[in-house]
Amino acid sequence: MNLSLSNIEHLLTTSDPTAIDGLFAEACRVRDEVYGRKVFMRGLIEITNHCKNNCLYCGIRREVSTQRYRLTKEQILDCCRIGNQLGFRTFVLQGGEDGWFTDDVMCDIVKTIKKEFPHCAVTLSLGERGKASFQRLFDAGADRYLLRHETADAAHYAYLHPNEMSFEHRMQCLRDLREIGFQVGAGFMVGSPGQTLETLIKDLQFIQDFRPEMVGIGPFIPAAGTPFESRQAGSVELTLRLLAIIRILHPRVLLPATTALGTLHPNGRERAVMAGANVVMPNLSPQDTRALYSIYNNKLSTGSEAAESAADIRLRMKAIGMETPVDRGDFAY
Ligand code: SAH
Repeated sequence: MNLSLSNIEHLLTTSDPTAIDGLFAEACRVRDEVYGRKVFMRGLIEITNHCKNNCLYCGIRREVSTQRYRLTKEQILDCCRIGNQLGFRTFVLQGGEDGWFTDDVMCDIVKTIKKEFPHCAVTLSLGERGKASFQRLFDAGADRYLLRHETADAAHYAYLHPNEMSFEHRMQCLRDLREIGFQVGAGFMVGSPGQTLETLIKDLQFIQDFRPEMVGIGPFIPAAGTPFESRQAGSVELTLRLLAIIRILHPRVLLPATTALGTLHPNGRERAVMAGANVVMPNLSPQDTRALYSIYNNKLSTGSEAAESAADIRLRMKAIGMETPVDRGDFAY
């Protein structure tokens, strides 16, 4: 399929259903050629909602007044034990930028997980750190790191973040992670305030140049108590088109059907897979902390048991003709 710049712009804006169906079909064909009809499951463990940052869109930003929690090492390990039983072979430890999780603390947690579950991959998503810190986490056994670039346009980045944060540093972190040897995840929100067709094209250009092993994209959803709480949510339709375009531009990418899509549409994750996605990340966090990790409003699956949500997602994938193997789901180099 021809994905020249003008054709990408056309695909992002057209209301011709045949063009869009063709785009989704091509994305699935490309995915199936690389990975087969497989959707990899990752168990998401939200380890802390403390955060020193103040990103304008985020429901756990420093200035939101909300109940804060952090999981203990034992709680995190319990989540992994449950996840391992359920057939997860990747654990994603995500959180706000919480100084309590120093390098020493995180390295100890990673080493303990890798010792008890040597057959599992550990993905970290803990925000920006220094290169030496990333190196220590890698040496402790972490396999992958997710750090969405959020936008590839510096002015748009400045609109979404306070002055104390910098576009340059975020991009430097991604380069550092790559150099150290992590499988690296980038990504962005669709429909974030200030986003334009032009900034989206820059995001696609960045993905094509940097070729992250993973790309997480989901619609922006307003979060209560933030400066953007009254802004419009991003479009499910546009997110699906972007997923398909990213799959075709970067056939080997690991592409999650995000919870944010599932939040905005009852079949959002299925539709994402039918547009070329091949990863799902059900929640393994303890029941009582899930609602507190409220990065946006009405986040999906707060409350349901880990076992229940894993079974639910497996059924949903089966219904659209996809397998959910017990597999780490590494990048196909
Ligand atoms: N502190 C970590 C993890 C952040 S949460 C980090 O900085 O990487 C993971 C992702 O959720 C963010 O990168 C952001 O893209 C997304 N997110 C945050 N607020 C959101 C919102 N209101 N709507 C949709 N996605 C959001």
